[in-house]
Amino acid sequence: MEFRFTPAQEAFRQELRDFLRAELGDLEARSVDRGGVTGGRYSQEFSKKLSRRGWVGLAWPKEFGGQGLGHIERLVYNEEMTYWRAPTGWHFTAERQMGPSIIMVGTEEQKRDLLPAIIGGDVCFCIGYSEPGAGSDLAGVQTRAVADGDDFVVSGQKIWTSGAHNATHCWLAVRTDPDAPKHKGVSVLIVDMKSPGIIVRPLYNLMNSHEFNEVFFDHVRVPQRNLVGGLNQGWYVVASNLDFERAGIERVIENELLFNRVLKYARRGKADGASLNVTDAIRHRLAEMALEFQVGRLLSYRVAWMMSQGKVPNYEASQAKVFGSELSQRVTGLLMQVLGPYGQLEAQSAWAPFEGSVERTFLSALSDTIRGGTSEVMRNIIATRGLGLPR
Ligand SMILES: Cc1cc2nc3c(=O)[nH]c(=O)nc-3n(C[C@H](O)[C@H](O)[C@H](O)COP(=O)(O)OP(=O)(O)OC[C@H]3O[C@@H](n4cnc5c(N)ncnc54)[C@H](O)[C@@H]3O)c2cc1C
Repeated sequence: MEFRFTPAQEAFRQELRDFLRAELGDLEARSVDRGGVTGGRYSQEFSKKLSRRGWVGLAWPKEFGGQGLGHIERLVYNEEMTYWRAPTGWHFTAERQMGPSIIMVGTEEQKRDLLPAIIGGDVCFCIGYSEPGAGSDLAGVQTRAVADGDDFVVSGQKIWTSGAHNATHCWLAVRTDPDAPKHKGVSVLIVDMKSPGIIVRPLYNLMNSHEFNEVFFDHVRVPQRNLVGGLNQGWYVVASNLDFERAGIERVIENELLFNRVLKYARRGKADGASLNVTDAIRHRLAEMALEFQVGRLLSYRVAWMMSQGKVPNYEASQAKVFGSELSQRVTGLLMQVLGPYGQLEAQSAWAPFEGSVERTFLSALSDTIRGGTSEVMRNIIATRGLGLPR
């Protein structure tokens, strides 16, 4: 692995920074709690600006409207977008997961219709995998799709569907063969969220914020041409798709940003009038965290590097996921200790240090080891595919 970015990659990073500073203003003046890439701030307008610059679909092949650049450029882009808290939620999932899957296994029609729409910032996808009885075990999905003429008729319920209230489309896992062995009867459909029969109900998370939903499908008609990757092939579509989700550098950057801001005040022993609790034990743990950020960063860089070499990461993506998400919890727990009792104050309080951003990120980090695959499931993947241990 090359441990240095090329001059062209560094120049690209600078170009991104100049644009983001001009668009979003000085980073120091803004809150650094969850948002942007993984926190689900949605701005179609901002996505369209990025699109006009050619920055959506950077790593996609040129024949599909991308820039044909490498995965390292995509990593640089993700680092900067996350660092600057850019509201990229609108196109992010589609560009990262749906686009590459459509390029790999989509029909010509799907490539023609959807890829330009993703690049142009015209579509926003939510992911409909989890159900009340199917989460880690995705092969357990019960939402049924029954062929009827040129359509499938879809009925069932999804849960924890992030961003379904903003999405134009859902990337939906459905059961198309109830008699086949569990993982052989699943398919993936692209569903227009405006289709009659779809009901989206908000679920409020422990920060009392509306990020995910329950989604009900009541005899929703979906054209058969919206089937992705072939009938009953959904398991393979989902498996490859999740690898794109897990490897992200975003968690490391988000936490490092918050860490650096608290650290700046810890050096002075005060934040927003409140004394900071920097004991010797905490000092050592802060130093340890600084090392852990580098480890998390390198694990994510490794995945990007593998992809840039045409290799397919899977247990490596799980390593980055498990380390990065558990790091989120370690860092935010430590920062709460540094802030002492003031750290628990919510953003509305005049005495909340850092506008309550540590408190919100601490709560938000609890879900990091669940979303996109739990730590236990990630460790199973590392054990079997990485270490060759028996199932
Ligand atoms: C913030 C957030 C956003 C989300 N967004 C989406 C979304 O947009 N779309 C979507 O479809 N889903 C989404 N999810 C759902 C998420 O993917 C599931 O919650 C996750 O896969 C776990 O599934 P589950 O909740 O059903 O738990 P279960 O699978 O029931 O797991 C319960 C516990 O059992 C453990 N466990 C399960 N299987 C094994 C095993 N084989 N070996 C060892 N331990 C095991 C788990 O680790 C966990 O501790 C989101 C979740 C969160 C928290």
